Amino acid sequence: MEEKEYSRRQFISQCAGHSAAFMGMMFLLNSCGGNNKPAAKEENTAKPATDPCNDLTGVSAEELDKRKRMAYVDKSQMPGSSCGNCGLYIPWKDQTTCGGCLLFKGPVHAEGHCIQWVAKTT
Ligand code: SF4
Repeated sequence: MEEKEYSRRQFISQCAGHSAAFMGMMFLLNSCGGNNKPAAKEENTAKPATDPCNDLTGVSAEELDKRKRMAYVDKSQMPGSSCGNCGLYIPWKDQTTCGGCLLFKGPVHAEGHCIQWVAKTT
């Protein structure tokens, strides 16, 4: 009986020790911030434009980089292929000269082009 009580005491003592260690670890992780810190705010250095087709304010640096990597240009140099007849073009309801693209955010000129151009299927 005494041995059983000793085991219970030992068990409770070990639990208290583990709990204290766990709480300490949680406190340390919480105070370090872990990976839960919000990502640094991306700054868009593009100047605000009055023309919505050229307004890249609010477009993240990542999206601007995608645009660059796809070699997007406002004026296509490829005869017969431009954003306006690309399958990935999203025309704006109130704009006829520009719209959007399924591949990146921000305005896209209907006369623009990039290396991802695909013919419209319909
Ligand atoms: S994929 Fe390229 S060509 Fe097609 S709409 Fe987007 S930017 Fe224009």
